[in-house]
Amino acid sequence: MTKLNEHYLNLQGSYLFAEVARRTAAYKAAHPQQEVISLGIGDVSRPLVPAVVSAMKKACDEMGQADTFRGYGPYEGYDFLRQAIARGDYQSLGVDIEADEIFVSDGAKSDVANFQEIFDARARVALQDPVYPVYLDTNVMAGRSGACVNGQFEKIIYLPCTAENRFAPALPKEHADVIYLCSPNNPTGTAMTRAQLSAWVEWARAEKAILLFDSAYEAFIQDADAPHSIYEIPGAQECAVEFRSFSKTAGFTGTRCAYCVVPKALKLYDKQGTAHSAHALWLRRQSTKFNGVPYIVQRGAEAVYSPEGRAQTREVIALYQANARVIARGLQTAGLQAFGGVNAPYIWLKTPRGMSSWDFFDFLLQELQIVGTPGSGFGRSGEGYFRLTAFNTPQRTQQAAARLGQLKK
Ligand code: PLP
Repeated sequence: MTKLNEHYLNLQGSYLFAEVARRTAAYKAAHPQQEVISLGIGDVSRPLVPAVVSAMKKACDEMGQADTFRGYGPYEGYDFLRQAIARGDYQSLGVDIEADEIFVSDGAKSDVANFQEIFDARARVALQDPVYPVYLDTNVMAGRSGACVNGQFEKIIYLPCTAENRFAPALPKEHADVIYLCSPNNPTGTAMTRAQLSAWVEWARAEKAILLFDSAYEAFIQDADAPHSIYEIPGAQECAVEFRSFSKTAGFTGTRCAYCVVPKALKLYDKQGTAHSAHALWLRRQSTKFNGVPYIVQRGAEAVYSPEGRAQTREVIALYQANARVIARGLQTAGLQAFGGVNAPYIWLKTPRGMSSWDFFDFLLQELQIVGTPGSGFGRSGEGYFRLTAFNTPQRTQQAAARLGQLKK
């Protein structure tokens, strides 16, 4: 009798998107003449930009020639891409991150999911509430969560993010070993300011804690006061890992390429209190369990940093940002209170008249034929909120915004 990993039984059903799909399908079946618009999708709608496509085609040709063919690549990614990232995303900001501190991967999801493997099984974990569910579920699987009581895990430290604190998590009152911070935030659409991030870095250094900083939506930042990298904050190289992705920056959701930065200065401690390099541990983990990202894909990602690639991807981001403004105006006309959408492709709105997130989902679907995502699905503090995304086409987004504008105040 093979026993299972009992921690998996602790996982709460990933019912959010399944339930959204179920209710949407039921509505469409009952109202086949109605056109439903989804502002719920977290996937991009624009294709890869020409600079990326042509770099990938060229790499594809190389793979078909004996003298330029490549087999297994380096576990950490090809040097050409690591150099392009170090220069393009860090040294250009005046941040001293070297190419060999960058680990290329097949997605920020895998990276944020896997990184906890190098921490002690009893490490105390803190996370924002509402939250991107991967941070929580992977720690539940690893046995760090304790039991789930009334929708929250006993050993997880939840950091509520609500309109009252402008969606910025307060520093924990107790010690935490690992803190997941997502900025710009999915789902609240809010980016942390320099002052807020500085306070976290100071706290983490004092506590000898590690910040896992997910900035998958970095490309959407517009406010000068929101750092593009946590390493813009002095001291962050001693306490933070940064996760980035080409998914939303350059439409790689189906192509798969991302990276994480593990600075050489970052330390973890054994039982005796002796320091060990997190970089060395992560390299050991990756070289054991991961065989790298395809050469063709890495050449495509490299092209994002070329002058044409930058200009073309910026145009795509600008299109999503324009969508976000269109949605925000629609919500304003409807008299709904909304947050985010400036530094992120997510708009987080307060449901009217104290409606629950799911009641508002049903209301929006039935009255306006618009699908979004109930905030309560991202955690307890998401109740009473609702997420809309800017990833649909401009035409569909404008249609949806016009419908929102018809809502009576
Ligand atoms: N991190 C956050 C906060 C996300 O919202 C997502 C995707 O929705 C990811 C990571 C996953 O990114 P990737 O496509 O690189 O796996």
